[in-house]
Amino acid sequence: MKQLVLVGGGHSHLFVLEAAAQGKLPGVELTLVSPEARQVYSGMVPGYLEGRYDLDAISIDLPRIARRIGARFVEDGAKRVETESRTLHLESGGTLPFDAASIAIGGVPTGTTLPGVAHHATFLKPINRVLTLLPKIEETVRNAGPESLRVVVVGAGAAGVEVALTLRTRLDRLGATHSIITLIGASHTVLHDRSRKAAELAEQALDRREITRRMATGVEEIGADYVRLTGGKVLPADLILWTTGTDAPPLFRASGLPTDAKGFLLVDDTLAVPGIPGLFGGGDAVSMATAPKTPKAGVYAVRMGPFLARNLAAHLAGRPLASYTPQDTFLALLNTGDGRAILSRGQLATSGRWAMRLKDRIDRGFMRRFQRLYA
Ligand SMILES: Cc1cc2nc3c(=O)[nH]c(=O)nc-3n(C[C@H](O)[C@H](O)[C@H](O)COP(=O)(O)OP(=O)(O)OC[C@H]3O[C@@H](n4cnc5c(N)ncnc54)[C@H](O)[C@@H]3O)c2cc1C
Repeated sequence: MKQLVLVGGGHSHLFVLEAAAQGKLPGVELTLVSPEARQVYSGMVPGYLEGRYDLDAISIDLPRIARRIGARFVEDGAKRVETESRTLHLESGGTLPFDAASIAIGGVPTGTTLPGVAHHATFLKPINRVLTLLPKIEETVRNAGPESLRVVVVGAGAAGVEVALTLRTRLDRLGATHSIITLIGASHTVLHDRSRKAAELAEQALDRREITRRMATGVEEIGADYVRLTGGKVLPADLILWTTGTDAPPLFRASGLPTDAKGFLLVDDTLAVPGIPGLFGGGDAVSMATAPKTPKAGVYAVRMGPFLARNLAAHLAGRPLASYTPQDTFLALLNTGDGRAILSRGQLATSGRWAMRLKDRIDRGFMRRFQRLYA
């Protein structure tokens, strides 16, 4: 039996687990390594914040999938990859030998080395951090008492906009209706990587929910109860949510693996790491040499999943690998926390209740597909 190790149990690797369940990885002993047994689906996290979904609806039980498909689940983190001996070193000190391995461990938030950020901010990446978020919000509301709660969301991309809007709904439900929510972004508009129309719709939704913006603004430092902006202005804050962009996880440089200039794992169009036979990668953690501008978005991680499954099987069976070309644009559906969603694709953007119904249908369908593996 060949040893196949999957590092990370997120968007990309769910498809490899599905392929294993369908018997598409014959002659393989599969091990799944993840520090989290419960894999939270980021697309539904804003809906969870809002109160639309409970935790079970937005999460996948990785050990149960592993049990059902005869794989081993190792609750641990990868610390280093040794390519000569084909060994994965784990945070716990253990090791796992492999014939083939795939690494899809997502990214880490940008800006965490700024003073105070690692200590005082609340993160949504890795996405499982969301598990501690609701108790924290409830505690912050309790501590604020009759005073207006002040929440600062740093990062005005899709995640920051959705989090600010759905948090407003949650705070209203908790009775903290006078909360002051401020969204901070380094670019001139929110959703800087989407179309102008999409940004306008987001601005309108933020206005309707009285969410203040401070755009073209950097953060210099944060403390337990404040955010200091570039230029010196200080915003008082009871809760600081950090929803910035994606940086590379340290694993690749620590292992001396090929990376791009930012430290993301370099892969070719077959999602294989050049020069290291048997090592593959996908999702936010990788940079494709043939398409370096591929956005760090779940949509792409999802598209890479079936290619990873196919190419891992092909590599282990000595068959030729298939090549993957990322699509130019992608459909984004942003939950605005008021029963509506913004739909955007390329230059097209629109919003409405029907868009939220569409988002709900797509997201629930995604979850059903993988929860069915152990139902
Ligand atoms: C609030 C929010 C909402 C979002 N909504 C959307 C959306 O609607 N649409 C969209 O396209 N994108 C969305 N994204 C982005 C999306 O979450 C990522 O692009 C996607 O998760 C990347 O998938 P992945 O497979 O690379 O990694 P992930 O799905 O993040 O999975 C990474 C896995 O690796 C594990 N891991 C991490 N470190 C290690 C380690 N050292 N060793 C072993 N395992 C490890 C993690 O525990 C996890 O199991 C959103 C992000 C956020 C924060």
